[in-house]
Amino acid sequence: MKRKIDEVIELLDFNELMNVKKDIEKGGERISRIVDAKIKQELKRHSSHCCVCNAKINPFSVFNFTLVFGPEDMKKKASFCAIDCLEHFLSNLKDFCGDDNTTFIKRIRKTDRKHERD
Ligand SMILES: [Zn+2]
Repeated sequence: MKRKIDEVIELLDFNELMNVKKDIEKGGERISRIVDAKIKQELKRHSSHCCVCNAKINPFSVFNFTLVFGPEDMKKKASFCAIDCLEHFLSNLKDFCGDDNTTFIKRIRKTDRKHERD
């Protein structure tokens, strides 16, 4: 069951709410540690559905693949039900990034500079 942070806060008793508030006031080290551990745990798991064909992923299948990519502070995760879905994703990713492996943002910046010169 997915919950939003305000729904999770509703589940806490008064003492835990006060502990969270104190932690936040001191810089949020405890909350940050808990969130980092949960993110690490989630990155290791397959998503529930294939990001290409939207098939439900059997977490015990040997044909599943999960790709974790992106910068450390903005990691993305994509799961695939089979190798052909992974190949399809990678070929589209290459179209998105280009053969020279420049990022979409770098290409936009190059395009912006070109427009500035025109
Ligand atoms: Zn698939």
